[in-house]
Amino acid sequence: MDQLTNKVAIITGASSGIGKAIAKELANKGANVVLAARRSEKLQQLATTIQEKYAVKAIVIESDVTNRSDVENLVQQTKKDLGRVDIYVNNAGVMLLSFLKNDHIDEWEQMVDVNIKGVLYGIHAVLPTMIEQEAGHIVNVSSVAGHEVFPSSTVYSATKYAVKALSMGMEKELSRSGVRVTNVSPGAVETELTEHITDGDVIDMFKDRNMTPLESDDIASAVAYALTQPETVNVNEVIVRPMHK
Ligand code: NDP
Repeated sequence: MDQLTNKVAIITGASSGIGKAIAKELANKGANVVLAARRSEKLQQLATTIQEKYAVKAIVIESDVTNRSDVENLVQQTKKDLGRVDIYVNNAGVMLLSFLKNDHIDEWEQMVDVNIKGVLYGIHAVLPTMIEQEAGHIVNVSSVAGHEVFPSSTVYSATKYAVKALSMGMEKELSRSGVRVTNVSPGAVETELTEHITDGDVIDMFKDRNMTPLESDDIASAVAYALTQPETVNVNEVIVRPMHK
């Protein structure tokens, strides 16, 4: 039996990488999915693929998570179209690694806006609905960089530690509300994430990196595991690292 049949799941950052893989995996398990990001053409292609392959609804809502009213609209439009919100995956994020000495202040601000404020807007937009439903599951995508700080990850890590802190606080506050919270912390995954890095010192450092990253599907499986546990089980933290060969 499909374990998420008739559930409604919103996934932010569904236009590529991990978010796209999560959307497909949740649809595979029977959920109706709401695909959110700024690149609506990519979302539309994914919606078509999902609807051709799985007997679920897939709708596209173009939204920028740094815009509070976009995120409020994402939840309101979902409720209008699909009636409820069972799952909200706070996945959209940017990783603009840089060394502090190179002073990429605009990128620091962008990471705070997307990775922290975007998650806060998601919580603000969806939590009242889940509390009223007395049921729901919020998945926050943090990172191993939200558990350790690496050279050049200082500001990115600060944002991902913040995500982890939000998850921990939510879990404590919501444990009797019917709303479950999962913090997912991936290690390196092969996606578009590193393509946006502009710090030349980091780009040079990455050239010497010798490792085999995870696939986005590996993270989607971990998210699906947390979402398909019995309602009495709250999987609060999942860390997934690649094996070194
Ligand atoms: P991608 O770059 O492939 O995906 C990032 C997603 O975030 C895209 O769909 C992008 O969509 C969306 N996004 C970025 N900015 C905004 C915005 N302002 N508003 C709405 N959506 C936005 O990277 P990943 O799939 O790797 O990243 C997904 C998450 O996983 C991130 O939170 C990242 O920090 C985390 N992570 C990734 C790791 C990795 O190694 N890849 C490791 C640990 C954590 P669009 O541009 O269309 O808006």
